[in-house]
Amino acid sequence: MKTKSLLLRSEISSIKTIVVKTGSRILTATGHEARVKRLIDDLVALHNAGIRVVLVSSGAIAHGMKALGLTKRPSNIPMQQACASIGQNRLMNMYEKYFEEHNILIGQVLLTWDDLRSKKRYLNLRNTFFQLLDSNVIPIVNENDSVGVEEIQFGNNDTLGAQIALLTNADIFVNLTDVGGLYDKNPHTDKTAKHIPVVTQFSSYIHKLVSEKKTEISVGGMSTKLKAAETVTRAGIHALIGDGYDQRLSSVLSDDRCATLFVPSDKKMSSRHRWIAYTGQACGKIIVDNGALNALTEKGKSLLPAGVKGIHGTFKAGDKVEIVSERNTVIGSGLVNYSSDDADLLRGCRTSEISQRIGHKSFDEIIHRNNLVIY
Ligand code: GLU
Repeated sequence: MKTKSLLLRSEISSIKTIVVKTGSRILTATGHEARVKRLIDDLVALHNAGIRVVLVSSGAIAHGMKALGLTKRPSNIPMQQACASIGQNRLMNMYEKYFEEHNILIGQVLLTWDDLRSKKRYLNLRNTFFQLLDSNVIPIVNENDSVGVEEIQFGNNDTLGAQIALLTNADIFVNLTDVGGLYDKNPHTDKTAKHIPVVTQFSSYIHKLVSEKKTEISVGGMSTKLKAAETVTRAGIHALIGDGYDQRLSSVLSDDRCATLFVPSDKKMSSRHRWIAYTGQACGKIIVDNGALNALTEKGKSLLPAGVKGIHGTFKAGDKVEIVSERNTVIGSGLVNYSSDDADLLRGCRTSEISQRIGHKSFDEIIHRNNLVIY
């Protein structure tokens, strides 16, 4: 395989598709030209080794601010959107110039949550990405900030980057920031802070490291980076959070002192299950009794009408819903076979009674096992 020539950490066996996310600071703070050039050189090396490369790049707002002579990030949304509109163009011009020097074509993809939450648009987007990658193009992705109002905003490119890793079926999601991943204390303020090279499990200890105000490790939004890493690893994708500010991407990939590696779960989720678990928007909730809870979580069964205790929200057959225990804990998600009205009428009934209750019967299950993900 072509990836053999690449130096990778021993925990990462090979990469066919890589998604790299870079934050605004890497791209715009003093010395950015050298940093951007270095990043592009490393992306080109991966591309030339036959790896499919996707770049998720922030920096639109920062570039727009610069163009408008603003020194502080505007707090009002229309001004942020105006900055993004000006800056996105500049950002892409910068990438175009550098990648052209290597004879590599790039393609721009701008997204909001709405584009991913809709199953149809999600599938169309997958086709676009796969076609770009098949055509040897490097897609460069950002949030479509100039149209993004709150309900459809990702809010940060950590979430967007994780979603792109899921969508493109990547082997690894690399989140470049200005620290080398996780530390047991804040490395900016505490010299005794120890670097954590590998995380095999998202324990409460790991979550506490970034949520405790005392450690201030969440500088640079470490908690959203951790959440993004958790999402992709649960789906079976490696995640790295590493220092793209002082270090090269190649060092982040090869040197365990430059990044924290998050080891993925053994099972690679199918694309359909990924969308159900982490991307699609739930249109409602189904509350299940303890018997169904056990059948779903322990025995891998489908959700039958008999186990349904309650319905919340309005949904159609085919929509995504959350499955909730009687204690109000979300235990999973799935695509329903019946509308909320029908599901409500079917509450607690036996499968043999379905036709009698609603006048038709297309399925035995409210949610079939194949369309179900338990968290
Ligand atoms: N999409 C924003 C931009 O390009 C940045 C979001 C982020 O930094 O996560 O300016």
